[in-house]
Amino acid sequence: MKIFLAKSAGVCFGVKRAMDMAIKVAKKDPKHLYTLGPLIHNPQAVESLKELGVKVKERVESIPRGTVIFRSHGVSLRDLQKAREKKLHIIDATCPIVKKAQFFANYLHRHGYALLIVGEASHPEVEAIRSYLDEGVAVIDDVKKVQELGPWDKLGIIAQTTQSFSLFKEIVAACLERAREVRVFNTICHATMIRQKEALEIAKKVDCMIVVGGYNSGNTQRLAAICRDIQPHTYHIETAQELRSRWLSGREKIGLTAGASTPSWIIKEVELKIRRLKT
Ligand code: SF4
Repeated sequence: MKIFLAKSAGVCFGVKRAMDMAIKVAKKDPKHLYTLGPLIHNPQAVESLKELGVKVKERVESIPRGTVIFRSHGVSLRDLQKAREKKLHIIDATCPIVKKAQFFANYLHRHGYALLIVGEASHPEVEAIRSYLDEGVAVIDDVKKVQELGPWDKLGIIAQTTQSFSLFKEIVAACLERAREVRVFNTICHATMIRQKEALEIAKKVDCMIVVGGYNSGNTQRLAAICRDIQPHTYHIETAQELRSRWLSGREKIGLTAGASTPSWIIKEVELKIRRLKT
């Protein structure tokens, strides 16, 4: 049996940065320390922060005082204003790559382009980007929806940073038929593109694929979907305990990858469990 472990598997730069920021503050003074929503889309990592005293609050209104950490997805204008009004100490852990996507969205908007975001409308990153702009920003994650939009004179397109690159290309191509002028900024982050490319390559050569990451993690869900298209024996799990020996039975080439918010210790545990189940 051979395990093909993706080199890119696991925590990306933006998530590591946010975790490091939270841990640093928690070690200094964990009193009245909150994140607005889970800091990253990985329940096990969030639990480890909780042990250091970092509490999760879904709404700024529920934070009595102290410090609030904004997560790597960014923060909506409304929440930012509320935190300022409450005079909370703000630690902004928004990933610089997400900030770049916010910048391009603003740039297109200011220059008179109708804005289309390729992404999930309910994802916090997309919600945050939209909150700084006026009404009328379209968000889609299905190429068929392009026909329901436009036609446009000037259309600007960006992507949620963790979107699928192939979907982004498909939607851009479809928009070219519906707009006189199209300006595109590829805001999909490099870490995401590398993970998707590598997952695809591994899925092609194995007979079972394991994708590790939070069920609430969009980028992990997309990695699993990309692998499943190629390899139907693809399983998305959060922890090693969820691995089933029947998935591995009769399979000698096992692929292993993980989303951008999956800590390395969880990947290691999964790898060890695969080895145990195969001996
Ligand atoms: S996936 Fe990319 S954009 Fe998102 S936090 Fe990680 S590095 Fe930043």
